[in-house]
Amino acid sequence: MTLLKTKEEIMTIREAGKILYGAMQAVEEKIQAGMTTEEIDLLVENYIKEHDAIPSFKGFQGFPGSICTSVGSQVVHGIPGDRVLKTGEIVSIDIGVNKNGYHSDSAKTFALGDIDEKVRCLVEVTEEALYLGIAEAKVGNNIGDISRVIQEHAESNGFAVVRQLVGHGIGRSLHEDPKVPNFVDRNPGPVLEKGMVLAIEPMFNMEEIDVLTEQDGWTIVTKDGKPSAHFEHTIVILDEGPKILTNGTSIDWENIN
Ligand code: MG
Ligand code: MG
Repeated sequence: MTLLKTKEEIMTIREAGKILYGAMQAVEEKIQAGMTTEEIDLLVENYIKEHDAIPSFKGFQGFPGSICTSVGSQVVHGIPGDRVLKTGEIVSIDIGVNKNGYHSDSAKTFALGDIDEKVRCLVEVTEEALYLGIAEAKVGNNIGDISRVIQEHAESNGFAVVRQLVGHGIGRSLHEDPKVPNFVDRNPGPVLEKGMVLAIEPMFNMEEIDVLTEQDGWTIVTKDGKPSAHFEHTIVILDEGPKILTNGTSIDWENIN
């Protein structure tokens, strides 16, 4: 299977990405202590459906939610439910949107009110690492160049990179090749080419890399019980560099062949 997307495919993923960005903005406006994770799930599900799209995660391998809501020491894949968000907590919101058969994927960790200084630093460093990784997503580099800068940014700030979960290609399927690890692997991965669409998604823990899966079979938590942060964008590699498809900025399609 080719790793490259056509212009039409990229434009469709972009449509999915625009809706995803709007949904994430809606979360940003509403999210606060006192809400349940289920309320956020409903907010996003309604937004996506109002835009004639489908929440990618609902029913994906049996996942029950429309989004993933991962609170505190939950790393990713938290199931929305009756858990009430509290001041001082962080919560990662991961959204997937399927528009006309193509997916976009993006995540963001939100802080609820004042949070511990070191946790705030973890969140900031994880977000910075996402943008450092995206900057390496250019023609001629390897996947490993993205991985290296993300890992270096975590470790130089004293944080730990989750090894069990990685970024991925995305398109007709939510998870496609190539894998995009947040750490340097023995295999540098494919050379990056124009037309690749990737979901880059650093997941950083406070100290330890180890994670566990909870009883529900989905929720990934840190083994040490300390907080974890997660940021993700879907991007396309073009001749002029990487373009983010899930942040609402416009793209000059005329200049893309
Ligand atoms: Mg995601
Ligand atoms: Mg993803």
